[in-house]
Amino acid sequence: MKITGVEAMYLRLPQVRELCDSGQDALIIKVLTDEGITGIGEVDSAPLAVKGAIDGPFSHTTACGLREIVLGEDPFQTEYLWHKMYRQSIYGGRRGAGLHAISGIDMALWDIKGKALGLPVWKLLGGGFHQRIRPYASTLFGATPEETGERARCFRDRGFTAVKFGWEPMGQDEKTDIGLVREARKGLGDDADLMIDAGLVWDAKTAIQRARAFSDYRIFWLEEPLLPDDYDGYAKLSRATDVRIAAGEEESNRHSFIELMDRGQIDVVQVDLTRVGGFTEAMKIASLAFDRGIPVVNHGFTTYVNVAAALHFLNSIPNSFILEFVVEEQTTLRDCITKQKIVARDGYLDIPSAPGLGIDLNEDGIAKYRVA
Ligand SMILES: [Mg+2]
Repeated sequence: MKITGVEAMYLRLPQVRELCDSGQDALIIKVLTDEGITGIGEVDSAPLAVKGAIDGPFSHTTACGLREIVLGEDPFQTEYLWHKMYRQSIYGGRRGAGLHAISGIDMALWDIKGKALGLPVWKLLGGGFHQRIRPYASTLFGATPEETGERARCFRDRGFTAVKFGWEPMGQDEKTDIGLVREARKGLGDDADLMIDAGLVWDAKTAIQRARAFSDYRIFWLEEPLLPDDYDGYAKLSRATDVRIAAGEEESNRHSFIELMDRGQIDVVQVDLTRVGGFTEAMKIASLAFDRGIPVVNHGFTTYVNVAAALHFLNSIPNSFILEFVVEEQTTLRDCITKQKIVARDGYLDIPSAPGLGIDLNEDGIAKYRVA
């Protein structure tokens, strides 16, 4: 089998609101082959920067568009192709958009392998740790503490046993910050797990104060309170509190995760398959985390392509236990661009059994929202 094409499709809602909701647009990758099998991937990043990293021409031997690097190659050689892409795009790649672009192609290659062999990706990765996995509802805070409490009650009534609230208005002032967490806990009741995603808003000392205050409301983890490069701040915070500290969604490739784990001393590693370098790199990160006794969760706030990929990944590693499942109300794009919609059943998500990722694109939906 040979790769005959790579397509990076930019989809966007006609109205994009100024919110930290990355489900309002999407970059979907297709890898085509001479045997008629098409692999699907996704990248959650700066969409047109990633599209450029894929579509770009050969500039020189360490600055080449990814399409050109993989054309004519065998899609089964995922490890070899990952390194070929990494080496030949290393000037603009390594971290950030260049690595994000590799992620989308790597994901599509694993989809092709699964489809060709008639096996789900988790089986190719040697997995099988779960029959089903518990999702946590992942959402933004309400505009006020009270609104956050109402949202929490809604998710509890929908059967979620774990909920994460994130980003604005966290970080405005101490009273609001604590009010948001207090009302979230009140709305959820005593039994559900509550995660708090601060959204990169504090310095280390403020984060330590907040972690202490939030522990009165038994939060399961505190996510990304600091800027991602503040490794020493993460270490200070981690030493000062019993609250689990989670981070990783800003990272691409294993070297950044090693810094977060060894220098930053984080407690939960968050891997976004559309950013870290796809399945090929994510498995290595999970293994590094396992060796350090650290659990791994997915990060995903975009489409069911990413959710499906996360299900395969988390089913393939020993240190997984819960899955981020976005429940934002503005789901137009997510619900229109794939044939399958992934839903929780009795509070759990089933592990997919169809070949590849087990997700098919809805071409009408893609055409409706495609802008580049
Ligand atoms: Mg987050």
